[in-house]
Amino acid sequence: MASELFQMISVLLIVFSFPALSHGWGTDGHYIVCQIAQERLNDAAADTVNELLPDYAKNNLSSLCSWADRVKFIYTWSSELHYIDVPDDSCSYNYSRDCKDSNGVQGRCASGAITNYTTQLLSYRNSSDNRQYNLTQALLFLAHIMGDIHQPLHVGHTSDKGGNTIDVHWYTTNTVLHHVWDSSIIDTTEADFYSSDVTGYVDDLNQNITGKWSNQTSKWQGCSRNAIACPDIYASESISAACEWAYKDVTNGSELGDKYFNSRLPVVDLRLAQAGVRLAEILNRIFG
Ligand SMILES: [Zn+2]
Repeated sequence: MASELFQMISVLLIVFSFPALSHGWGTDGHYIVCQIAQERLNDAAADTVNELLPDYAKNNLSSLCSWADRVKFIYTWSSELHYIDVPDDSCSYNYSRDCKDSNGVQGRCASGAITNYTTQLLSYRNSSDNRQYNLTQALLFLAHIMGDIHQPLHVGHTSDKGGNTIDVHWYTTNTVLHHVWDSSIIDTTEADFYSSDVTGYVDDLNQNITGKWSNQTSKWQGCSRNAIACPDIYASESISAACEWAYKDVTNGSELGDKYFNSRLPVVDLRLAQAGVRLAEILNRIFG
């Protein structure tokens, strides 16, 4: 019954989905991350993911990768799980200092959410009668938040809300810095190099994963003490990239064009690829 209700709500949400308000990679960013991950699942993980996906999305995890953004207005408790705020004077991340929500509840941030949903998904091995979690939702939250935590400005400074209050011009369009990293760099890449088709972009990233980045992927996937996921590492990398690339040389009213685009695109490419490779590895470890 609960799962039927969930399925009905999900269908409604897809039909009546609203454009996301600058929270996390845009739809294409999340699609790319899940598409990379999906192609790297081992057989056991692919079967289990399929079993957890609703009927209308079988074999298509990437079609629901932005689901968590669309349910924020129903599950208002979940909106703070998409990001992490760090102090304005810091370019590093510290779990006990930074992973809390606006009420100070520890663990309620993107990194804590990844640990939580990973733990929930491990209970898949229990028999289906004594499962206490909705594992479809756990899967969709994990797949989405793994993308978000790799977007550098999702681990951004507190006072500017991860670049959401920094107005910039992206070529001729007025937007905010956060949105440049969620969507504009990706959209410009697709328009300039792939005839606005996301598939070509995914193919090129996959080629780099098995090509020029192939000697790095096992390091990306590695976690200390054989942990299943290591979200504190992903968060640390993001705030460091935010300082080094996203915020650098940008102030309110900055005009961002070719120079910014060409120097930051390699960072976006890398973060999308790392998110996809790591998501697959986490699911392979849980279900494999
Ligand atoms: Zn998000």
